[in-house]
Amino acid sequence: MRQDCDIAVIGAGPAGSTVAKLLHDAGLRVTVLEAQEFPRFVIGESLLPNCMNVLERAGFLPALEKAGFQHKNGAVFECGKKHRTIDFRQNFETTGWGTTYQVKRAEFDHILANEAARAGVDLRFDHTVTAVQTSDGDCLITYQDKAGATSELRAGFIVDASGYGRVLPKLLGLARAPQSIARRALFTHVNDRIDDPGYDRDKILITIHPDRHDIWYWLIPFSDGTASVGVIYPDGDPEFTGMGEQDIFDRLISETRLGHLLANAKQTRQLQSIAGYSADSEKLCGDGYVLLGNAAGFLDPVFSSGVTIALHSAELAADMLITRHQGHTDIDWETDFAKPLIQGVETFRSYVDAWYDGRLQTIIFEQPDDDSQLKRMVVSILAGYAWNMENPLVAKTDRYLEMLHDLCTPAS
Ligand code: FAD
Repeated sequence: MRQDCDIAVIGAGPAGSTVAKLLHDAGLRVTVLEAQEFPRFVIGESLLPNCMNVLERAGFLPALEKAGFQHKNGAVFECGKKHRTIDFRQNFETTGWGTTYQVKRAEFDHILANEAARAGVDLRFDHTVTAVQTSDGDCLITYQDKAGATSELRAGFIVDASGYGRVLPKLLGLARAPQSIARRALFTHVNDRIDDPGYDRDKILITIHPDRHDIWYWLIPFSDGTASVGVIYPDGDPEFTGMGEQDIFDRLISETRLGHLLANAKQTRQLQSIAGYSADSEKLCGDGYVLLGNAAGFLDPVFSSGVTIALHSAELAADMLITRHQGHTDIDWETDFAKPLIQGVETFRSYVDAWYDGRLQTIIFEQPDDDSQLKRMVVSILAGYAWNMENPLVAKTDRYLEMLHDLCTPAS
């Protein structure tokens, strides 16, 4: 049966546009089906330096530089009087980026999608995938266009980059319960009007509630004087029973220094609320398909790892599919895609677990603010370099976190 394309990609978020562009550049025929019209809002606005390496390889950087996004070189962590500045350039890597951007995703994702389409990728907005039949070399996709008309697309292979849509996990029954407890995110955009001369717009500000270490906030400034503000707390927390979400948000902001920093801020978007955003899958690949980015799963927003994992998975999958296209038959998706991808995701997972049980917060605030290798190892993962096995903190994350925590715990 003649195929309409070599590879069908579901979704034109960062994972979808990037895998499509990399495959197209290598000579494959790619069709991307995207359910929405772009630009569209999506949360996930603070990038990590490691994702720049993939964006550069895909040829996206000139267009991103032209867009004038907010430069980002690190993170500031605050909890009451405790304060720690992390500079991503002070990392363990010998090559690769040490800086990145903070982006409004509507604009960022639109640029990536446009660049892929401009290069020749067949990218169709307003096309929602509703059903699939997967078999390596012979896949069938059913989709609906804006007018509600149903059509089919035949492809050699399906890449699911549908993010929170999680198309293949749902259609193929691959979803499994995430390991973490359900948390809720409340977030908005503000015209921030921050006039504190000490405030550094080149860094994401992560604030921890002074009395509740499981409640934390992000402040992500953009280059146009606006910022993204959000707070994470346990979903259904009895402390907030009976309160409306805007009241919870306002109260939590007022209980930290953010209340002063944002005293003159004006909210420009309606407050949004998402709960149960963590997701996991039984497997990441199978006969004729692979899952990328959030379609495969999502850990937690705390280290801004989402887009970096999405782009890393896109690059790994593109390399596999290019090798396959070149006629190599000895491709093992489990060994060469799933296993190495999961290695880095597990590193982030250990960081996330150590954040919520307090160990990582202790390490961040108490580790000597020096230029030691240990500090560089910690910073490297915060900069997104979670797959570099040369970094002992990647190779043996839990053991090193334990050791660092012991070293950083003040003697009582
Ligand atoms: P997406 O960006 O979700 O793109 C998927 C696309 O697929 C969408 O455009 C969608 O319309 C399309 N689609 C869905 N269903 C279908 C269908 N049936 N047919 C066709 N198309 C379909 N990450 C960071 O890196 N930094 C952060 O600061 C950050 N903050 C976050 C804060 C919160 C509260 C949360 C919940 C997440 C955060 N993330 C962050 C994670 C980030 O949002 C995601 O990891 C990232 O968007 C994943 O990219 P993606 O390409 O996999 O999917």
